[in-house]
Amino acid sequence: MKDISIIIPVYNESSNITLLYSRLKNVVSQITTHYELVFVNDGSRDNSMAMIKKLSSEDPSVKYIDFSRNFGHQVAVSAGIDLAAGNAMVIIDADLQDPPELILEMYKKYKEGNEVVFAKRKTRKGESVFKLLTAKIFYRILSSITAIDIPLDTGDFRIIDKKIAEVLKQMPEQEKFLRGQIAWAGFNQTFVEYERNERHAGKTGYPFKKMLRFALDGITSFSNFPLKFATLAGFAVSFVAFILMLYALYSRFILKDFVQGWTSLILSVLFIGGIQLICLGIIGEYISRMSNNIRNRPMYIVKETNI
Ligand code: UDP
Ligand code: MG
Repeated sequence: MKDISIIIPVYNESSNITLLYSRLKNVVSQITTHYELVFVNDGSRDNSMAMIKKLSSEDPSVKYIDFSRNFGHQVAVSAGIDLAAGNAMVIIDADLQDPPELILEMYKKYKEGNEVVFAKRKTRKGESVFKLLTAKIFYRILSSITAIDIPLDTGDFRIIDKKIAEVLKQMPEQEKFLRGQIAWAGFNQTFVEYERNERHAGKTGYPFKKMLRFALDGITSFSNFPLKFATLAGFAVSFVAFILMLYALYSRFILKDFVQGWTSLILSVLFIGGIQLICLGIIGEYISRMSNNIRNRPMYIVKETNI
């Protein structure tokens, strides 16, 4: 049994692994000697895996899970949680945006009896205005349309207790939104604040497309509001359309003025068409996720592991 497992998703991080390893080692050895560093290689195309294997041959506390291809950050973290042995598990990015030294403070709060200690960003350095703004808007929308309290301005950098890990294993959905699932689990949750640094080296593995998919996963996994919105919008538009229909009949039979009105006709056709497409799109988002889950494929495929 280990006191702590550090779970590190890795996607093309060869320029960060060495420094990350020594900083983590330094921090975690101040807490305990019973620990493991679980590197989850998410189909990196650089030599990250070779570096991790080399570390593991020199240091038995280094464990690795090597995926058969890229499955995405959330899935990589989930695999780490599935296979790690620690009583406490730390989830941390490999690019040193999450300072390993903060783990000391987080662990203290964990020991005070909190099953989840997440790290809340006071500031975020080196990220585009666009990313900061979209992230801010997204988390505000999410918290206003979901019933659970997903903490604002947090990522996945956190300590979770084994109990939380057990809850997560019972949530086999394919579209992972870990920070939501962990909030949903309950127990005692608290946070520490920190300044988020820039990436030490390398470049982001979260381009806009992945971010958008992640945001939609967060919303569709925890809220049916968009589906309700489709219904509400449908009613609102039908109501307006009904009034317009009465008006059209009135002008046709009473006012005998039926050549004009092309403008309003075309406007309403376009408007209703637009709303219908939005509603279909919303329903489609949910259905595609349902079909993913019905297929029941494994969430990830492990090529090799030393656990
Ligand atoms: N990552 C991953 N799979 C991916 C993309 C990213 O395992 O498909 C890892 C990456 O190596 C890093 C963490 O997830 O440890 C966060 O990714 P990144 O720093 O690229 O995201 P950002 O901080 O730019 O949002
Ligand atoms: Mg990063």
